[in-house]
Amino acid sequence: MKGFCARYLEVDLGSGEIRVREFEEELFRKYIGGTGLAAYLFLKEMDPLVDPLSPENPLMFFCGPLTGTSFPGSGRSSVVAMSPLSGLWGECNVGGAFGAAVKLAGFDGIVFKGKAPGPVLFWLDGDQAELRDASHLWGLDTYETNERLQEELKGDGASVRTMQIGPAGENGVRFAAIVNEIGSVAGRCGLGAVMGDKNLKAVAVRGRGKMEYADPEAAREISKRLADKLKGHLLAGTLHELGTNGALDTGMLSGDVPVKNWSVGEWMDALDTLNSFYYNDNILVKIVGCYACTVRCKRVVKVDEGPYAMHEHAGPEYETVCLMGTNLMNASLEAVAKANDLCNRLGMDTIAMGSVIALLMEAQEKGIAGEGLTGLDLSWGNMEAALEAIRLTAARDGFGDSMAEGSLALATSLGAPELAVTVRGMDFPAHDPRGFHGYGLAYAMGTRGACHLNSVNLLVEGGMGSWPEIGLKGPYKGMTSKGKAEITWKCLSIGQLFNSLCMCEFIGAFLSLDDQVDMLRAATGFDWTLDELLECGWRIWYLKRHILNLRGSGRNDDVLPPKAMTPTEEGTNAGSIPNMEKMLAEIYELAGLDAEGTVPPDKVEI
Ligand code: SF4
Repeated sequence: MKGFCARYLEVDLGSGEIRVREFEEELFRKYIGGTGLAAYLFLKEMDPLVDPLSPENPLMFFCGPLTGTSFPGSGRSSVVAMSPLSGLWGECNVGGAFGAAVKLAGFDGIVFKGKAPGPVLFWLDGDQAELRDASHLWGLDTYETNERLQEELKGDGASVRTMQIGPAGENGVRFAAIVNEIGSVAGRCGLGAVMGDKNLKAVAVRGRGKMEYADPEAAREISKRLADKLKGHLLAGTLHELGTNGALDTGMLSGDVPVKNWSVGEWMDALDTLNSFYYNDNILVKIVGCYACTVRCKRVVKVDEGPYAMHEHAGPEYETVCLMGTNLMNASLEAVAKANDLCNRLGMDTIAMGSVIALLMEAQEKGIAGEGLTGLDLSWGNMEAALEAIRLTAARDGFGDSMAEGSLALATSLGAPELAVTVRGMDFPAHDPRGFHGYGLAYAMGTRGACHLNSVNLLVEGGMGSWPEIGLKGPYKGMTSKGKAEITWKCLSIGQLFNSLCMCEFIGAFLSLDDQVDMLRAATGFDWTLDELLECGWRIWYLKRHILNLRGSGRNDDVLPPKAMTPTEEGTNAGSIPNMEKMLAEIYELAGLDAEGTVPPDKVEI
């Protein structure tokens, strides 16, 4: 089969058995790949009520049908497991080239079950798979682990792609991440803790095959056409030049950026030293990209000297600049870069870690939790203390043990749950629903809690993309709840589609949905239509929502936290809050959910 390998590897870490499992063609047609296929497998074969930190929680790495092709934006891949942070469905979409390596090794994915008796490495070289002892890697940070693996596995010199955990994953930090060889991160949902719980230190893959297309001639023509389209696209060019942090410059003006633990509407002065031009002039070393990407938005940075000196490596994205910058009242980009580097090395999500620090800074200011409890002077903007908080958390050392439980659990234990800014236990990304009301609805209806990637509202309401072919024309006014349910219902389908195709959402925003159909047809030979793909997106959303329902999460959790429902007094979004009741009622009707937010049985197709 072209586009798909129609098989995946199932690894029982307890017994060491490695099996090749096959897929029916019909499954790709209905669930596409990536997180869609993972959701299907979860419901079909696994226990949807599984304890996230138990051997029975499967850790799944999946590709999409375009992964490994030459099409732009197709270099990403999915990681899925039940989340130790939220206790609910967890998924990540990660950049780099790992997914392409898995596909070129001849598989659509790898599913890890059980728990190894000691630290192990899973090594897939072409179609030869084995488990190796990884005791010598345990305790190393993610970058050190990759360096050791590259040295040990270099063989004939063909590229080795890796995904590994750091000390945070080993120590069960609930927002531990999985980090790949270029410093791209599967950060949200704490899937690194699942990997650590399985004693799986790293996964390394060398793909030796060649991608085959159902229609090679069409594939060549489409690749060239889309590369040309992206080359002439203004926003694609801006993304390349400024990176994702280009969003900070406009976001501060549009009421999107979190400031002082989501309490203040704007902080213009911070732009002087956090903006993307300062970034390019002061810390940027070079620009890199994911597999087959012609846009290339990723940054390699370096800080030469001072308290935040760091070696050349992956630079912070917009989300991190906000969550480790403006939201902590820190205007030092060098400090953000250091915090990002530390989190990447130790293997933790910068959004979740930054959120923990922000709430503790507010707690200290309000006299709820001070230095006597935390052992740190977490005054606003004190980045030396913030860096120490990161180290303590990864090690679960002292108060780090409490921080490692995540912001909602921590704030609740302090008797101040209102300081946590989460939906379903997942910290808000750096996009404020008071500035863009549809984001609030997307956070509530997203299948992994507050997330800017589960639904593409950010692209549509934020003005990065429009898809007139399905009525998403834009531009849309951010600070209104009117009409947002209809927009969000479509955005949810596209978000699920992108996460199942493993398509980069930026590239997806710059292309039409018809372009996606063209790529899929050329790669797979399936005669998908756009309507059919949208149906796939909703089908996948229903499956994941059904898993949430089975775990007791429905209308009770479709709730924004107090911070997001309290208007700010300054900045563009001053006085604005989303009308959640109205938007939820409207989208429930569109989705056919009952008053409890439950998916109707006929929508659960397994
Ligand atoms: S635009 Fe950026 S995130 Fe998307 S595929 Fe290219 S390099 Fe990766």
